[in-house]
Amino acid sequence: MLTREDCVELDRQDDLSALRSEFHLPEGIIYLDGNSLGAMPKGAVQKLSRTIEEEWAKGLIKSWTDADWFTLPGRLGDRLGRLIGAGPGQTLVCDGTSINIYKALRAAMALRPDRSVIVSEKDSFPTDLYISEGAMSARGGMTRRLLGQDSDALEDLIDDQVAVVLLSNVDYRTGRMVDMAKVTKMAHDAGALVIWDLCHTAGIVPMELDAIEADFAVGCTYKYLSGGPGAPAFIYVATRHQDKAVQPLSGWWGHANPFAFDHKYSPASGIGRFLVGTQGILGLRGVEAALDFFDQVDLAKVREKSKAMGDLFIKLVEQHPDLASLELVSPREAEQRGSHVSLYFEDGYPVVRAMIEQGVIGDFREPGIMRFGFAPFYLRFVDLFDSVEVMADCMRRKVWTNSKYLVREAVT
Ligand SMILES: *Cc1c(COP(=O)(O)O)cnc(C)c1O
Repeated sequence: MLTREDCVELDRQDDLSALRSEFHLPEGIIYLDGNSLGAMPKGAVQKLSRTIEEEWAKGLIKSWTDADWFTLPGRLGDRLGRLIGAGPGQTLVCDGTSINIYKALRAAMALRPDRSVIVSEKDSFPTDLYISEGAMSARGGMTRRLLGQDSDALEDLIDDQVAVVLLSNVDYRTGRMVDMAKVTKMAHDAGALVIWDLCHTAGIVPMELDAIEADFAVGCTYKYLSGGPGAPAFIYVATRHQDKAVQPLSGWWGHANPFAFDHKYSPASGIGRFLVGTQGILGLRGVEAALDFFDQVDLAKVREKSKAMGDLFIKLVEQHPDLASLELVSPREAEQRGSHVSLYFEDGYPVVRAMIEQGVIGDFREPGIMRFGFAPFYLRFVDLFDSVEVMADCMRRKVWTNSKYLVREAVT
């Protein structure tokens, strides 16, 4: 049996424990939702205050150049690139994930004009499905094959009709991770392109987009990356595709010469053509504050701690006599998991609500999935022990019999 003291000892031996002091964490809260909205880096306060008080209030419009606002999407993209294995000039921080999926999807479809199939997954995060519906409607004759519906094996779905494969490398519900290198190669062997949705891995799982010859990738910066609520997303386009890629949202920021105010659109060379229009500078500064933090972080070490945390959490749940009715939905093998662990319980929603009331913040996803994310930058092993005790207390109290926990919040 693992004890609380064992967990305290793991924290004592943890190389990354000092990183916790770089985040604002409210007293009395155990935050297991950094996979949905990362905690705030302390540096964000100063960075955003300076942007507001100096650059905006005093610099006014001059700040577009004096404070280098205009070049932020590309500069931040290059810095974020280090975390996803992307060399410079291939990543932008801009727009939202859904919008970037649309841009990447339409661009990829246009690079394979003689092919008519999109491969995606039935249980993907819904926006990926909705956006691919929208992208298909923009070009006649497209069809979609879904993993988990049309077949359980990607091999069966990918053939010479497939233009593009759109997949998440970690499933937002189960936490299951797929082998990006293997899938990318499988798609390329069939002549298809791949778009990776990295929302659940950016900043937490090391990866090498250039080395695996990825085509396109997108992801958000407000989850593990801690860029702030609704912070701008990122998009990666491999250099070899950039000058052939046609971006459907042909706005003026993607123009070769925006300040020429030409009547006709002419795309910028390189990754710049994937910009659309004016970007929210405050949001970008939040991402910059997060990258200031991530610049000092060794992702390989983060991954080790993240796997250890998932393993520990599973062990603590399974050794607890009051938690026997919970079912592990995530892979038991750490190598096959992202950084969250999901447990199925029919009345999972009221249990998550009751845990939040006791200061342990996780989240809930239909159907019956209690999801607990581990952001190793600011989470301690002992927090996992304490969370499991709170969960056990909620189960013992049968909180689902109390109607106050049943009321659904607008955001779960
Ligand atoms: C969180 C998430 C998104 C979010 O998209 P937004 O446009 O930022 O709302 C998209 N895809 C996946 C897989 C996600 O987990």
